[in-house]
Amino acid sequence: MLDTRTTDDWQALDGAHHVHSFTDPALIASGKTRVVVRGEGCQIWDSDGRRFLDGMAGLWCVNVGYGRQELIDAVTRQMAELPFYSNHFQSTTPAMTALAHRLSTLTPEGLDHFLFTSSGSEANDTVVRMVRYFWKLQGAPRKRIFISRTMAYHGSTLAAASLCGLPHMHAMDGGTLPDFAHIVHPHWYGLGGTLGKDEFGLQAAQALEQRILELGPENVAAFIGEPVQGAGGVIDPPSTYWPEIQRICRKYDVLLVADEVICGFGRTGSWFGAQTFGITPDVMTMAKGLSSGYLPIAAVAMNRRVFETISGGGHLAHGYTYSGHPVASAVALANIDIIAREGLVDRVREDIGPYLHETLARLTDSPIVGEKRGIGALAALQLIKNKATREPFTVEEGAGIFCREACYARGLIVRAVGQSIVLSPSLVITHAEIDELAEKLADALEETVRHFRLL
Ligand code: PMP
Repeated sequence: MLDTRTTDDWQALDGAHHVHSFTDPALIASGKTRVVVRGEGCQIWDSDGRRFLDGMAGLWCVNVGYGRQELIDAVTRQMAELPFYSNHFQSTTPAMTALAHRLSTLTPEGLDHFLFTSSGSEANDTVVRMVRYFWKLQGAPRKRIFISRTMAYHGSTLAAASLCGLPHMHAMDGGTLPDFAHIVHPHWYGLGGTLGKDEFGLQAAQALEQRILELGPENVAAFIGEPVQGAGGVIDPPSTYWPEIQRICRKYDVLLVADEVICGFGRTGSWFGAQTFGITPDVMTMAKGLSSGYLPIAAVAMNRRVFETISGGGHLAHGYTYSGHPVASAVALANIDIIAREGLVDRVREDIGPYLHETLARLTDSPIVGEKRGIGALAALQLIKNKATREPFTVEEGAGIFCREACYARGLIVRAVGQSIVLSPSLVITHAEIDELAEKLADALEETVRHFRLL
């Protein structure tokens, strides 16, 4: 039956019943819900028929774009054949086994065992359990502490929220769980002072060594980081950073965990961010681009040492009803087929990544843009009050949110992270769409400049 409810109807119902993620409920109560009804390629439409260019690929996830018939067909086929069976108690379904095998051909050397979850948060939570279990079986049960970074986002479940380095994530429910520590994030423009980029990268990585020594290497289980910090503002580290982090982890036998939830599946111009930055983690988490968001599925990849150790523990007391859900696995397989067949990883590295960054670099002429950063199909513009002194806008001034709203008003979806505008478009974005994105963003930046009287 045709649903004839209007935008006003949806907003009223939503205000009455729906608790939103990462939203002030007051905005929803006052009827400001955006009702998104349709998507095609890099475009979405709202319930009033307005078109938006989606500069965020949903939530960093719709890598192959909206409306892919091939993915719809994969879901339909699997639904008809077997909508559900679990992987508990020695069972599998062909889709989940095929997906584990396919992933093993894409991940860095040695990472060829996969534990499935339904979300990035669950994957990171799982890592906390698995890594502590690993050390217990290795005869080092005191190795429990996880070190992550300020501005990190690793999820909203209890352990994943503790891994986060965003103060508001900890403030909500009274801090972190025990045995979580944080070091500085490697944002050269914001924190580098007079240091050169490479020198700052080394120094930021060496904060890990210092922290391990303070905590005692015998107590530190793992370091976890997003190859490029996403929700913290698209912070791509200097090239010296990751190799030094890896060296330090190896030196103190601290496991290296890459959170590839955003970076995985082509976004940085390699299948995984670890490959872009030249590291081989012991454990990796992935989600989002794994199914391009068409269905919830995520995974923890582990290397042989980790897998063989936890295999030695016998019955594994861990898992989810929907681990490796066959329909989600089928859509992930079809999604990987599209990424591979259409060469989207190379396209990011050689074509649209460079084009996006060249185009955005022109916007740094604006008096309000201090820095363009990012890599591949991940980018951010840092809004700044005074370019010479790098004086930032305050939260109260809200330049980021002002500019984001100005983008929305022009039919462009971007995200504001603090006083940065961040972008993570689908990997199928065209040059014409990048031009449209940059035009709209330039216009929104001009309005922001006028609003804050920077001219
Ligand atoms: N890790 C990273 C790097 C993320 O960006 C996110 C989500 N934005 C998560 C983990 C959590 O994933 P999910 O929202 O699927 O739980």
